[in-house]
Amino acid sequence: MVEASNAFQMIVRQIDAVCERLKIKEAWRLRLGNCERELTVHFPVKMDDGRVKIFTGFRVVHNDTRGPAKGGLRYHPDVTLDETRALAALMTLKTAVVNVPFGGAKGAVVCDPMTLSLDELERLTRRYTAEITIMIGPEIDIPAPDVGTNPQIMAWIMDTYSMGKGYSVPAVTTGKPIEIGGSKGRFGATGRGCTMIALLTAKHLGLNLGEMTVAVQGFGNVGSTTAQFLSQEGCRIIGVSDIYGGVYNPKGLDIEGLLAQCKQTGSVVGFKEAEAITNAELLALQCDILVPAAIENQIVKANAADIKARIIVEGANAPTTSEADRILNDRGVFVVPDILTNAGGVVVSYFEWVQDVQAFFWSEDEINRQLQAVMENAFYQVLEVSQRQKVDLRDAAYMLAIKRVADAMQARGIFP
Ligand code: NAD
Repeated sequence: MVEASNAFQMIVRQIDAVCERLKIKEAWRLRLGNCERELTVHFPVKMDDGRVKIFTGFRVVHNDTRGPAKGGLRYHPDVTLDETRALAALMTLKTAVVNVPFGGAKGAVVCDPMTLSLDELERLTRRYTAEITIMIGPEIDIPAPDVGTNPQIMAWIMDTYSMGKGYSVPAVTTGKPIEIGGSKGRFGATGRGCTMIALLTAKHLGLNLGEMTVAVQGFGNVGSTTAQFLSQEGCRIIGVSDIYGGVYNPKGLDIEGLLAQCKQTGSVVGFKEAEAITNAELLALQCDILVPAAIENQIVKANAADIKARIIVEGANAPTTSEADRILNDRGVFVVPDILTNAGGVVVSYFEWVQDVQAFFWSEDEINRQLQAVMENAFYQVLEVSQRQKVDLRDAAYMLAIKRVADAMQARGIFP
């Protein structure tokens, strides 16, 4: 077994182990070990210089037993079908952990959005949408932003899909701009959820979040908003990083200043009043809480022993490999898993979908209040399973999720 060489197989192994433990019926274990629908598309895009380039994209539904499939859309040069499957499976588990009535899906286009002009990005997004239109819809599969995509891209998808239908279909995506049916609070929802989980964890461990030091890897949607909310809670954010490198200040970084710089330069690198560090150094910083919020496989066998944080809240999806997880566990690091920690995004996506379907919109206070209730409920349910079954939080979250999906499959049975 090569560490994390096959992301989907890694998740299937974890699912299998939990199914075994819970004595889940073979039929449901087999279904969870396979994706229900997969579409690969190779499509042309007219580039600004007049040439035509062929791009490859995917849309994968892992399981939609509990409701319409739900999952982000990633634009990244290294994304693969296997990774898309893995992320779709994580979405099935995530929606189940927080008990929103969705299944799990994910989409991706192999591209580097940083090298595309806005016009090229729009043409790529619209053509990709047309290619996968047979798979998406408010009652079928609902995309949302992920790495490399944003509210504008969700707006282009919604518009392209609506043009095909002949009427506006706001509920086909979530994470849209407010003007076309987006939800208040959606942009910061994942970071807000991560912060709620960090607060609940600190409370559970008898620690005061206000006195804690934090390092955050990734300064995009999840990383920057988590850093912002945690610093508002009184935490000292001593290090942050992005794909270009990191910055460190033991006295605490000025997060608003960093956000302003990122708007101008696109990176945290070069921030004054801070020391330059590498991503490897950021992960190994002496701090109370580490928030990996960039991409997967950042905490691996080779660096797990270097982690000095006592708590890891996984903002990113799959930032820790199974082998690294075992090392962290043995060392007593308290790891709060991705499918619980970063579920705030899909919870508010669910609220957005409900608002779009009903054409009735909620206040931001209402959104945040309902988000708090869902996250708190999920946290204590996972904690209860962990204490009762004497397993770590990741296994507990998987157990809770898999039981819910298996029960749903059992209730529906197998067609025909
Ligand atoms: P984003 O594109 O907004 O930001 C990604 C950040 O990570 C950027 O700062 C980028 O520079 C940095 N990064 C990328 N590769 C890196 C590397 N190799 N080393 C260090 N930094 C790197 O993406 P996002 O939406 O913030 O997503 C981040 C993670 O959170 C992903 O794993 C995603 O699947 C997960 N997630 C996102 C949401 C959401 O609502 N956006 C919800 C749940 C989970």
